[in-house]
This record gives sequence, C-alpha cells and structure tokens, in this order.
Amino acid sequence: MTITMSNTRRGLPLTSSRIEKIFPKLTPAQIDRITAYGRMRSVQPGEVLIEQGDTSVPFFVVITGEVEIVRPFGAYETLVTVHGYGEFTGEANMLSGRRSFFRARATKPGKVIELDHQQMQTLVQTDAEISDILMRAFILRRVELIAAGVGDIILIGSTHSAGTLRIKEFLMRNGHPYSYIDLERDADVQNLLDSFKVSASEIPVLICRGQLVLRSPSNLQIADCLGFNESIDQTQVRDLVVIGAGPSGLAAAVYGASEGLDVLVLETSSPGGQAGSSSRIENYLGFPTGISGQDLAARAYLQAQKFGAHVLIAKATRLICERKPYIIELENGTRISTRTIVIATGAQYRKLPLENLLRFEGAGVYYGATFVEAQLCGGEEVIVVGGGNSAGQAAVFLAQTTKHVYMLVRSSGLTATMSRYLIRRIENSPTITLRPQTEIVAVEGDNHLDSVYWRNSQTGQTEKHEISHIFIMTGADPNTRWLDGCIELDAKGFIKTGPDLSPENLSATGLPITRQPYLLETSLPGIFAVGDVRGGSIKRVASAVGEGSIAISFVHKVLQE
Ligand SMILES: Cc1cc2nc3c(=O)[nH]c(=O)nc-3n(C[C@H](O)[C@H](O)[C@H](O)COP(=O)(O)OP(=O)(O)OC[C@H]3O[C@@H](n4cnc5c(N)ncnc54)[C@H](O)[C@@H]3O)c2cc1C
Repeated sequence: MTITMSNTRRGLPLTSSRIEKIFPKLTPAQIDRITAYGRMRSVQPGEVLIEQGDTSVPFFVVITGEVEIVRPFGAYETLVTVHGYGEFTGEANMLSGRRSFFRARATKPGKVIELDHQQMQTLVQTDAEISDILMRAFILRRVELIAAGVGDIILIGSTHSAGTLRIKEFLMRNGHPYSYIDLERDADVQNLLDSFKVSASEIPVLICRGQLVLRSPSNLQIADCLGFNESIDQTQVRDLVVIGAGPSGLAAAVYGASEGLDVLVLETSSPGGQAGSSSRIENYLGFPTGISGQDLAARAYLQAQKFGAHVLIAKATRLICERKPYIIELENGTRISTRTIVIATGAQYRKLPLENLLRFEGAGVYYGATFVEAQLCGGEEVIVVGGGNSAGQAAVFLAQTTKHVYMLVRSSGLTATMSRYLIRRIENSPTITLRPQTEIVAVEGDNHLDSVYWRNSQTGQTEKHEISHIFIMTGADPNTRWLDGCIELDAKGFIKTGPDLSPENLSATGLPITRQPYLLETSLPGIFAVGDVRGGSIKRVASAVGEGSIAISFVHKVLQE
C-alpha cells in the first residue's frame, strides 16, 4: 500500500521556490551530454530500478514515462516523489555509494538513461555545468530529507537519555536523515515497541530499514547497519590514507582526490571534527555572515566524495611503522596499507576534574553547542565554562534561545583569551553574565544534572544553583596516544614536523629520512601531520584547511621518490 505524504506528486512538504532547485529539469542538450556517459534503456511499469538498501546505485534520467521514489516500511510505502521527463534520481548517497534510502520504480512504460556509479562520478568530475545542477539537487534533497525526518531509520529514545543524544548527534553530524520517536512524548510509541519486541528499558533503539533492531547501539554498530563502510575496498594499498575528517583532514582529502590520488579517510565518528560542533564560524574566509561548522563540514565531505575520496567510519588504533607500505590498524582489527599518511586527528576536549561528571555527559553536560543541544535547554538557565573563542561563541549562540547564560572563567577576565568581537557581544548581551575567578566544584542530579555548585576563588564563597545544563569549553589535548612511539612528539604530546625536528629526532626512527623533512612531514618519511594535532599549529579552521591542502603537494613528492 502506498501512502502519499501530500496530495501533490511531491511527497515531501516542499515550498514551490525550492522545487525547481531540488527537482530541476535537464535541457535536451544536457540530456544528450549525459547520454554519452551511459546508455538509454526501456523500463516497464512496476520495474524496480533501485531497491532500498542497495549500495553504489545507478543514476537515472527519465526520458519518457515516470519513475516514483518511495520509502518502504514493512508492507507500506510512503511516496517521496515522482520523476518525469528530464528529471533525475538520487541524493547525496549517489556520490558516496552508501545504501539507498528509497526504492525507485517505473510506473509507466518508458525510457531512461542509466549511468552506473563509476560513470556517474566521471560525469560530475568532468562536466562542470551538469555537476553544478546535480550537486545542488543532491545537497538540497538531503537537507529536505533531514528536515522532514525521512530516511531509512527510526530512532526511539528519550530526551533524558545520554545515549539518545549521542546517537542523534552521530546521525546529524553524518548528515543521515532519521525519524525520531520520543518515549515520553509520542502516544503511539508502545505499539511500535511491541511490534519490534523491544521494551522501554532498552532505549535508545534504532530500527534500520524496518528490519534490523539495534538496542543502545555503538557508533560503529550504527555505521555498519547503515552500510557506511560497505562499499569501500579495505584491502588495496592506498596512495594516501588521511586519519581524521576535521577541516584539515577533509582539506587533504579534497586536494588529494582532486589531484588524482587514491585517498581513503578514516574517521572515528563523523566528518567535521571540532569545527563540526561549532554553532557559527564567523572568521572563515568567504563567509561574511558566518557558517555553522556542521554546514561547512557537510559541504567539504560531499566535495571530497565528488572527487572520489572514500570515507570510512572507523577508528585508527595503531600505526605499524617499521617498513613501507605503512599499516594502520583499525579498532576491529582490520589493517589498511598505504604509501603515505596524513595525520589529522586533532584534539580532544578537556574535562572538569569532578568525579561524577561522566554520569551527566549528554544528560546535562555537553562539549559542543549546536542546535541539537540548544533545543534541549531552550528557555532554561545554562552555564558555559571557559574563556576562549569557542566558549564565547557558545555563550552568544545559547543566549538567543535560553533564559540566561552564566559564563564561568578561572581568570580575572576574557581579554587575554577571546577575540574582541566576541567580548563586545558578551558585554552587550543582557542575558549573559560573566563570573570571573569562578570554578565548578560539584554537580548533582539523578538521571539528569539538576544542580551545580560554583566557587569564587577570590572570596572563597560557594553557591548552589539549580541549573541543568553545563557547556564545557576548556580546551583540548592532542589525539596522538594511538601512535604509540612511532612518531616524535613534543612535550605536550603534539606531533613534531619539518623544521621542529632535530637530527636526534630523525635518527631515532626506524626509517630515517635521508633528506631534510618536508614542511608538515613528521619524523617518518611520507607521514605528515596537519591541523590541531601538529605541534605549533594555529588552532583555527582556516589554518587547518590550509595545512591539509599544503601537505598534498609534499605527498606527491614522496610518491615520486
Ligand atoms: C566549539 C568550537 C568552536 C570553534 N570555533 C572556531 C571558529 O569560529 N573559527 C576557527 O577558526 N576555529 C574554531 N574552532 C577551532 C577549530 O574548530 C579547530 O582548530 C579545527 O577544527 C581543527 O581541525 P583539525 O582537522 O585539525 O582537527 P579536528 O577538528 O579536531 O578533527 C579531528 C578529527 O579526527 C578524528 N579522529 C581523532 N582520532 C582519530 C582516530 N584515532 N582515528 C580516526 N579518526 C580520529 C576526530 O573524530 C575528528 O573528527 C572551534 C573549535 C570548537 C571546539
């Protein structure tokens, strides 16, 4: 049975101004050019062209007849859209090769142009005009699906559960649309739980494609269920493996892949890194009104895929560096071989020294201030801890939707640590109060944080506040422990590169370099470090992007040696 989401040919509730961009009609000249990359074929009514869950699906342009796109769930189908003459199938998964969310089926006898996954990638890499139309449509379709919560999974959770927040963030930051059903708010939830034989105590629960039920799944289990890693060959020796998909890693992937290298990116959780948790980046060149970290990351991720880089959601846990090709071991034991490596693993948030803090992570204690967290504390009082730019941005952002923001800093003010423009906004905001020389000394709550004790180091006075949300923005430590002695680090654990390496550093490694190390090259030949993980780096998005792109020119030199 097919349920239509609205009474038009478009299942999604779209505004007419966007329809033309989301479902553009190709011109006869454009259709002719696309035909040269694939083949024309006939279709029959009822013929399924793409099945939900298929990977590396083909791309279709409708010439005659119609192709409907539906979301299957059990015995039901929900209509997403119907493509007619000159319209084409696909959304962002078309480029990544990940599982299709939907079923595509011909409804009338007709003709379509078909391009397989590889032909489709060649098309977007060579025809700039068509690439522009397709890329914009794919991005907008994905945005629309995310906004409407229409995808291939259902998350059943609770706003009081840290696990639910983690999964929501993982899905949001991977740009994966999902329907959310809340245990406390949705009346029909019991029927759904019963039909999948799940009890309320097992939430968060994820239902993949109406078939697989995951109870409180890890990020890796979700990635497996959604087939994030399925279409990627993990056995071939790569030209370049980039570890970390923050701004620096994504830049290395875009430049490497666009310059013809065979690039694999490894990312523990989701593309974007620290920048992905920034509510608004206002100092990145070319975005005068600012851009959310999530938006920037999503664009860069798609750009890397457009040029053919593969992104594997997996954690690198060990580097085997005695000989070349180098080997990177993943959490699940898989080994990836590569001729060169760009380490872009960034840094990790510092926590507050409170013994029960961990209990409230995701349930009142957060390390990023995106709209997901902002929704959880709308209209309430919140605390932001830290005096750097990320804390300042979080305070300004949260002040728009919360009742009041208390900024707690250990020092006597903000001037030494924060950009002037942010200080001015904080000073001018009636809903932000700065508490200098103040530290949190205890937190309390049952399932969710409900009170905070802070102490003024000048007066020695401790106050209790019934506040349920703390945003901790107190800096970060480098993600280098997994390197386990392979590469020279500085005293704080950041990676030493180029001119910072002493002759002793260079001779200490098993594979000494016979030339001077290149800029950004580590103590091992052909292994580079970029962005926040590199000793002496400027901790900014623009510098991370710059370093990621610069490293590629040296990767080429190493590959030619
Ligand atoms: C809240 C916030 C706001 C900010 N706002 C701004 C701003 O407005 N302007 C600005 O210029 N800068 C800003 N910054 C700083 C900026 O985000 C960072 O300098 C930048 O993200 C560094 O990029 P990176 O790629 O080096 O590392 P990261 O962004 O830290 O990315 C590293 C990536 O590597 C992954 N990773 C780590 N270990 C492994 C492993 N073993 N295997 C696989 N993957 C791994 C991580 O999951 C992560 O995705 C902000 C930072 C934060 C936290």
